[in-house]
Amino acid sequence: MDLTYTDEEQEFRARLREWLGKVLPELPPKPSPDDWPGRRAHDLGWQRRLYDAGYAGLHWPADAGGRGATPTQHLIFLEETERAGAPYVGANFVGLLHAGPTIAAEGTAEQRARWLPPVLRGDEVWCQGFSEPDAGSDLASLRTRAVRDGDDYVVTGSKIWTSHAEVADWCELLVRTDPHAAKHRGISWLAMPMDAPGVTVRPLRTLAGSAEFAEMFLDEVRVPAANRVGEENDGWRVTMVTLSFERGTAFVGEVVACRRVLAALAREARSTGRWDDPVLRRRLGRLYGEFGALWRLTQWNVSDAQRTGGVPGTGGSVFKLRYSHARQELYDTAAEVLGAGALEADREWVADRLSSLSYTIAAGTSQIQQNIVAERILGLPKGR
Ligand SMILES: Cc1cc2nc3c(=O)[nH]c(=O)nc-3n(C[C@H](O)[C@H](O)[C@H](O)COP(=O)(O)OP(=O)(O)OC[C@H]3O[C@@H](n4cnc5c(N)ncnc54)[C@H](O)[C@@H]3O)c2cc1C
Repeated sequence: MDLTYTDEEQEFRARLREWLGKVLPELPPKPSPDDWPGRRAHDLGWQRRLYDAGYAGLHWPADAGGRGATPTQHLIFLEETERAGAPYVGANFVGLLHAGPTIAAEGTAEQRARWLPPVLRGDEVWCQGFSEPDAGSDLASLRTRAVRDGDDYVVTGSKIWTSHAEVADWCELLVRTDPHAAKHRGISWLAMPMDAPGVTVRPLRTLAGSAEFAEMFLDEVRVPAANRVGEENDGWRVTMVTLSFERGTAFVGEVVACRRVLAALAREARSTGRWDDPVLRRRLGRLYGEFGALWRLTQWNVSDAQRTGGVPGTGGSVFKLRYSHARQELYDTAAEVLGAGALEADREWVADRLSSLSYTIAAGTSQIQQNIVAERILGLPKGR
């Protein structure tokens, strides 16, 4: 792997840096962590600016409306936007980072034309309706059923932990289309409009007080069969594509954000004299090494995905496993450095600290990632 930058890449970085310097001071302040409609408007406003400037969907293929940029340009984009303190993808998370890429990889020409441009333009928000009360780690146990009726599926069931459901326009929804097939075989992947009659969203409050995710109840919701991505009953395979994007590349930008938090912590420790504590210094040093290694792993995963046709492989599970633990340790260390001051820090910081606890669960728990690494990368025998 060549880690040096070409002249073209340096030029790309310089132009992006200049553009960020111009637009960021004009952005409105970010709404509070519990104002989701405000956050939606804020995040989509930023997406629109990226779109107008030609930076939306940088890593999406050109025939899906993206810029087909190289993995290195994508990583430069992430580095520069984080360095400049630009807004993160936020409410547009599912659309931009895994539903969109799944449709780009698996959808028909009509589906790509219908759903991808609004995601890139910042017009529509997606959520993910995978988990159910009895189907989380064992996702293929899902029971929400879809029965074919003419040109529609009639969907009935419930979902849980649906992030951003309250402000979403579309949901990437997993349903059981064949109740008699083996459990991995009878599933389909649908794009469900969130305003369809029969969809009820009941917000759940997190530890941080934010209604970031919700329960979703589906009562005979009619979804056009044309909204099915992939073949009927082949949804498990499509789901693996979605999850590989979710674990493989969706958290990438956050590693850069964590490195920024780490640098701020080191500065804070120096200014308060906490730096003289060798135990704390060692912890900060270890985190520095860990995030550096995660960034290198990211570069490897992104280049590998590009080389093998754009869909990330199981390396994403290694990344997800290490990243979610490193993030927790970072915020534990931050609480130690800041001491009681951590409680008085701004709301955004406290929300980040509390949400770091959920990272070892969201997008597949650490135990599940360990099983995937053991079975699919190391080739160890299956435990079940
Ligand atoms: C912040 C956050 C956001 C989320 N957003 C969404 C979303 O937008 N859409 C969505 O669909 N879901 C979402 N989820 C749900 C998430 O994907 C599930 O919580 C996760 O997959 C775990 O499933 P579960 O909660 O049912 O736990 P369970 O599957 O019941 O697991 C409980 C415990 O048992 C362990 N376990 C289970 N099976 C095994 C095994 N075979 N081997 C070893 N250990 C095992 C698990 O690792 C875990 O520790 C979100 C979750 C969080 C925390």
